[in-house]
Amino acid sequence: MTTFLEIAPLAPSAKSIFHYHLPDGMENVVQGNLVVVPFGSQKVQGVVMGSILRPEVPVTRAVEEILDPLPVLTSFQLHLAKWMANYYRATLDSCLSAMLPPGLARHAEGLYELADESYRPEKPVQQRLIKLLRERGVLRTGQLRTAFGPVEWEREAGRLVRSGVVRRCSVLPPPSVRPKKIRMVQLAVSRREAEAVIASLQSEGISSARRPAAQRRARILEALLDEGKPLAVEWVYASSNAKLGDVKWLAEAGWLDLVYEETMRDPLSGRSFSAAEPPLLTGEQNAVLRMMVSALEPRRAERFLLFGITGSGKTEVYLRAAAETAARGRQAIVLVPEIALTPQMVQRFGSRFPGRLGLVHSRLSQGERYDVWRRARAGNLDVVLGPRSALFSPLPDVGLIVLDEEHDASYKAGSAPFYHARETAWEYARTLKAVCILGSATPDLVTYHLAENGKITLARLTRRVAAAMPDGRPPQLPPVEIVDMRQELRAGNRSMFSRSLHAALKDCLERKEQAILFLNRRGMASAVVCRSCGKPVACPRCSLPLTSHGEILLCHHCSYRRGIPVRCPNCASTAIRPLGTGTRQVEAEVQRLFPGARTLRWDRDAVEEAGEHDILLEHFASHRADVLIGTQMIAKGLDLPHVTLVGIILAELGLLLPDYRSPERIFQVLGQVAGRAGRAAQPGKVVLQTYLPDHYALTCAAAHDFPAFARMETGHRRALGYPPFQNLARLLFVHTNESVARERAEAMAGTLRARIVEQGLVETSLTGPVPCFFEKIGGRFRWQIVLRGPSPGALIELPLPEGAQADVDPVTLL
Ligand code: ADP
Ligand code: ZN
Ligand code: ZN
Repeated sequence: MTTFLEIAPLAPSAKSIFHYHLPDGMENVVQGNLVVVPFGSQKVQGVVMGSILRPEVPVTRAVEEILDPLPVLTSFQLHLAKWMANYYRATLDSCLSAMLPPGLARHAEGLYELADESYRPEKPVQQRLIKLLRERGVLRTGQLRTAFGPVEWEREAGRLVRSGVVRRCSVLPPPSVRPKKIRMVQLAVSRREAEAVIASLQSEGISSARRPAAQRRARILEALLDEGKPLAVEWVYASSNAKLGDVKWLAEAGWLDLVYEETMRDPLSGRSFSAAEPPLLTGEQNAVLRMMVSALEPRRAERFLLFGITGSGKTEVYLRAAAETAARGRQAIVLVPEIALTPQMVQRFGSRFPGRLGLVHSRLSQGERYDVWRRARAGNLDVVLGPRSALFSPLPDVGLIVLDEEHDASYKAGSAPFYHARETAWEYARTLKAVCILGSATPDLVTYHLAENGKITLARLTRRVAAAMPDGRPPQLPPVEIVDMRQELRAGNRSMFSRSLHAALKDCLERKEQAILFLNRRGMASAVVCRSCGKPVACPRCSLPLTSHGEILLCHHCSYRRGIPVRCPNCASTAIRPLGTGTRQVEAEVQRLFPGARTLRWDRDAVEEAGEHDILLEHFASHRADVLIGTQMIAKGLDLPHVTLVGIILAELGLLLPDYRSPERIFQVLGQVAGRAGRAAQPGKVVLQTYLPDHYALTCAAAHDFPAFARMETGHRRALGYPPFQNLARLLFVHTNESVARERAEAMAGTLRARIVEQGLVETSLTGPVPCFFEKIGGRFRWQIVLRGPSPGALIELPLPEGAQADVDPVTLL
């Protein structure tokens, strides 16, 4: 009887699942297998989703090849991929591909070749394409995409293909990752025979010219006899001083065999972790861990918010929970924001799970990544530690998923499928019957709201772990001084440094301690602020800050526009102008004021110049610089004991972005930055400069008061209809031609409005289309529609029109 299979082709044009059959002679296909199938005129990879008794189509095509005898995805992962595709309105192909290690899943690529040399097209795009093909020969889709940049060429290429001027075919590149094999040598004869050969080699021509070679060959056999098992060729060379020729000579004589053995590339190999005894848990840690184990034990899916300030012992709880999971024969996934993948974290997990920790990060080679993935699949790992994508490690029986710094924006994918690791982890945990721990000192407001309403179990750590300090006293959070920059102006100080920050910096440098100057650069220079009253010029309809585009001020939510006012609408002052300071200006100012100070800039540009985060960080940590000047990058996870001063140059820059999450982000960032000061014995201090000294995000951050902030912010969210009270979905329309982007957005808005009425969705509303705040990125214009309601994503139907992207639960509307 023929076996029929449901297969999801890994091709962007494949809408979902197709039916195929297994040809005679091909057996043992299982769910989760990666196969090659014909698809249209192409050959593509596909994932076996399941089998069926009878196909829905009269004629099915045959599976051509099985690429890996083991499944590449577990049944839990297949379920998760389907859930992601449905919830995030993404293609199944994109969700499955996101779960496979890079280099394993390959998309079929188009190959273009000039067929008619004589054709002289009129259209510039066609001319350019033909010129490229004439000059460079056969080109792949990816190469043409690079050559054309933002210019749309595929439609014109299609026309040329149809008229026979250009030939197109498709190729499926083989996986670029494969198991690494090392060459091993083993004896092909018995011990006794080997000993006889050694004796004869040693006696061979005692005085002849062949002697050195015979000696080397004898030593090879001796080494193999000593070892008693196969040896890597390199070891053989090292222990016998022999060469490849000697090994080959012995192999040809039939005394030994050269074999290839698969090996695992392990990025942690060569690092020794001394197995560490875990500390005795504090009472709080113990209580929290017991709650988690009581869900783990009966295999009950449960979500915990582990809410505790930095240093309260959250990581220790993750380590214990992971050990409890491993003790039950299950595995743990620990997610961290990429930049927080600090050596300390790796060290701690490595020494608790020696040889059983898999590490995923962006600097791994494809081969190393593939091997971590294979070790996970083989059940050889207890813990996988890594960023968002580590959630998709194919561990056989995941019992625990941890998200450290669960509020971090890096958990949301930046391209399709726009999944959020927090929501996706919970769906995964539910099907696995696993425990999910969300850890943070400044939880996402949505998470916090769910915890307050009993949907997530709240687990609190209220104190810093005193045992970790040299004097046994818990370190205190540093005091934060808010400086009102309007007062500075009134007092005649026009510098970017307040008198207070200037004095603190002077003290700090005199005491030979270190300082961090922090600049929140997002949205820099786009808001127009009154220097007398501190208020940004805001939209009269939405009260969100207007942003300047040349001489025009624009509201990105409702399209309201006006010119830049001469006087402040609030206090009538004329001291009104766009904000704007960069890290370079701050550095120049520090050097002017303190000529002896050694400064170090840390922002995206500086990292690109210097290469690596760690190098810059190491430079600063070893006190080869006195003042670190950086953007939001420095806010995360640094443990710098010599830093006693943190200066926040202008706290509200991020607040002025017209985005509903701006206050939350600024609160989180300020909390983290402030936490950098005084991590060691010397007390720390934070100076926060602002034109908005009364804004609740700043006052609450200065007071280290998360609950107060959450109360205020939740009130605003409720009033304005933002999460957690309403859910959002955004549709983005991107095109090189602005009017095309706008027209497509308008057409979609019309369709969606009609759908809302048709389905009687009184709680659902639509805003837009409007140009995005970042209205042009990479030469493409961006327009958006925002849907708001109980489940706005469900309104979006696939496939989306060309150039459109759906983002369900967006974390930014910029
Ligand atoms: P967090 O993850 O909340 O920042 P950590 O787990 O890193 O907290 O704990 C902060 C410091 O306290 C670390 O140096 C850690 O090794 C130490 N620590 C944590 N728990 C204990 C404990 N029960 N006994 C002694 N030291 C501890
Ligand atoms: Zn004013
Ligand atoms: Zn407006």
